[in-house]
Amino acid sequence: MTHSTVQPLYDTFNRAALRFERGEGVWLFTDKGERYLDFAAGVAVNSLGHSHPHLVNALTSQAEKLWHVSNLYEIPGQEKLGKRLVDATFADKVFFTNSGAEAIECAIKTARRYHYVNGHPERYRIVTFEGAFHGRTLATIAAGGQAKYLEGFGPKVEGFDQVPFGDEKALKAAITPETAAILIEPVQGEGGLRVASEDSLRSLRKLCDENGLLLILDEVQSGVGRTGKLFAHEWAGITPDIVAIAKGIGGGFPMGACLATAEAAKGMTSGVHGTTFGGNPLAMAVGNAVLDLILADGFLEHVRDISLLFKQGLASIADRYPDVVAEVRGRGLLTGIKCVVPNTEFVQALHDEHLLSVAAGDNAVRLLPPLIITEDEARQGLARIEAACERLVAANKQKLA
Ligand SMILES: *Cc1c(COP(=O)(O)O)cnc(C)c1O
Repeated sequence: MTHSTVQPLYDTFNRAALRFERGEGVWLFTDKGERYLDFAAGVAVNSLGHSHPHLVNALTSQAEKLWHVSNLYEIPGQEKLGKRLVDATFADKVFFTNSGAEAIECAIKTARRYHYVNGHPERYRIVTFEGAFHGRTLATIAAGGQAKYLEGFGPKVEGFDQVPFGDEKALKAAITPETAAILIEPVQGEGGLRVASEDSLRSLRKLCDENGLLLILDEVQSGVGRTGKLFAHEWAGITPDIVAIAKGIGGGFPMGACLATAEAAKGMTSGVHGTTFGGNPLAMAVGNAVLDLILADGFLEHVRDISLLFKQGLASIADRYPDVVAEVRGRGLLTGIKCVVPNTEFVQALHDEHLLSVAAGDNAVRLLPPLIITEDEARQGLARIEAACERLVAANKQKLA
């Protein structure tokens, strides 16, 4: 046995040296008893914070009854959550998955099958945007188009045409008789919190209508209340054809879904797609519990109020620390800053202040508190962010001295 010195885990993650034992609301506690304010929220997953009693109860009471049966059988929890998602959105049909990438895969397959059953198998290409992130499967890295995620994984999956974010001319030029759909995040998460303007989303809708294309939205990160509406596209008042969701809908339980109109989903007939785990009773119990809270009276209003307070606080910090913060970005609680200093240094300075955040592309840092955050906790977060800026200013002075 000579391999025993090799670490057993793949080296794919650059992990911070933190081990959390327990979570409560917006707080995480390490094995050393230290407390962190969690503005990473498991990358926008812990929408209701940690150990929310309603979620814990939903999961444990389901766990005592039934975990998994497969999609060979009817699953009442799926029917219930599917109906609730349909009632609350543009969608008529729902397919449950385990992750965001699988929800996007389902969205891509749905769009291609739509044109296929319409007698246009040649229409399979999908236009995407630079800086996009759609997941890490072979098709979703092709859709995201980022070289760093494609390198070394063989030929890029065929059928994705990428255009610069916000370049309408390039977008129009990319549409050909082979185009099936346009795929976009209403707010880029990992790409650096760039927001697609309401106007640009409305003109995307128009462009799709004029060219017989389906509009697919990736709301894996922006959905389920994160921006202060149930879905970010509601701000623009548009009706998409297909929307992929995940992260927030499980509140920490791995799950996702692809939502579509009946028309868009008409090619997804018996046997053409499937999943073993997707939509199992445990996931559905939690997903339903998450919706109980997010759809409750006043919840999204609370998210919008907190977002406003938080954004004003960030803007004030940006004014006072122009050598650290370049710009405040994002929408609702899918927010953060574009840094002047390297974003990794900013994440570390926040870490030193016991506040967790997530680096993003374009030298940005994401601040993604659980949606249940109180005003007082938001102010505590702002104080820590300000203290982190002080640290960085002091460190810079030392470098110059
Ligand atoms: C996280 C994310 C994905 C991928 O989700 P996974 O659950 O990691 O597969 C896709 N799109 C967006 C916008 C995301 O933020």
